[in-house]
Amino acid sequence: MGGTPTRHHTHSRRNKGRSHFALKQKNLTPCSNCGALIKPNTTCPNCGFYKGKPQAKILKKIERVEQRKKEKSKTRAQGK
Ligand SMILES: [Zn+2]
Repeated sequence: MGGTPTRHHTHSRRNKGRSHFALKQKNLTPCSNCGALIKPNTTCPNCGFYKGKPQAKILKKIERVEQRKKEKSKTRAQGK
């Protein structure tokens, strides 16, 4: 059996390749209704508005999530 090679590339070549690994920040725009940073051309997950109008489907979803949060906090307050 031959020995394990200690390196195939120089440190320089390895690090030059790694210089492209960094993640780029996503393009976010402030919501026109609540100002939260959201992805462009999407309904705001915070307030459910798109192009200045409320979107019924998303509003229902937000209500459900908030109800669940309330229920959770109630059970926590009871100490169970
Ligand atoms: Zn919003």
